[in-house]
Amino acid sequence: MASKNKKNSKLAIIFYGSPGSGKGTQAKLLADKLGLYHFDTGDFLRKILNNPVLTKNKEIIKERKLNRSGKLNSPSWVLKIISKQAETISKLGQSIVFSGSPRTQYEAFGVDPAGKYKPTAGLLKILEKEYGKRNIFIFDLEIPESETVKRNSKRTTCTVCKAALMAEFSSVKKCPFCGAPVEHRIDDDKNIITERLKEYHNRTFPIIAEARKRKYNIIKIDGTPPPFEIHKKIISYFS
Ligand SMILES: [Zn+2]
Repeated sequence: MASKNKKNSKLAIIFYGSPGSGKGTQAKLLADKLGLYHFDTGDFLRKILNNPVLTKNKEIIKERKLNRSGKLNSPSWVLKIISKQAETISKLGQSIVFSGSPRTQYEAFGVDPAGKYKPTAGLLKILEKEYGKRNIFIFDLEIPESETVKRNSKRTTCTVCKAALMAEFSSVKKCPFCGAPVEHRIDDDKNIITERLKEYHNRTFPIIAEARKRKYNIIKIDGTPPPFEIHKKIISYFS
């Protein structure tokens, strides 16, 4: 059990969970509720990767290829980008909530198990310095693997307002919010989902065990109930 945070201190919250666990939704709901800055790493990286100004940049071309194949982006590249952004947000006095970061041990702890990158300060160290260790909360949303595949293969996104429509809306052709056509997200195709799952298990999941060893607050949450129920449970840690 995590200890309740002191009022008036800045918070740094991290959501973990396999693709489709609803971590993005929970991060967004919590951000709205508590006035946090929502750092959606996938979205942030996609914006950089799809930026037309950067189409000919060699580093971007390589990272875009990784992203489109369902593989994680290079940890050194991601860490550079997210650390800078996290520091900027902290300096503004803002609390922050991450969905999808840090994704690898290197991004989290600055130590690469494969020894490919040289040791540095990982995101958790940076958050510790900026927010204090006891104000860091790591939520682990758990859903069965079969549920992950089901949720992802049916997920559609609005082409205009970007609303994500879950499985219940799989037959809907028009966005219920703005009326635009909906589409499958490029990285939600079946093979890509399988690859993302594999990447999550091999590279992201071990972070939770390591973070526990390092005495961070880790809170396991059942990710199968409807999102509003999960949200209620999560906010109970901050009230
Ligand atoms: Zn829409």
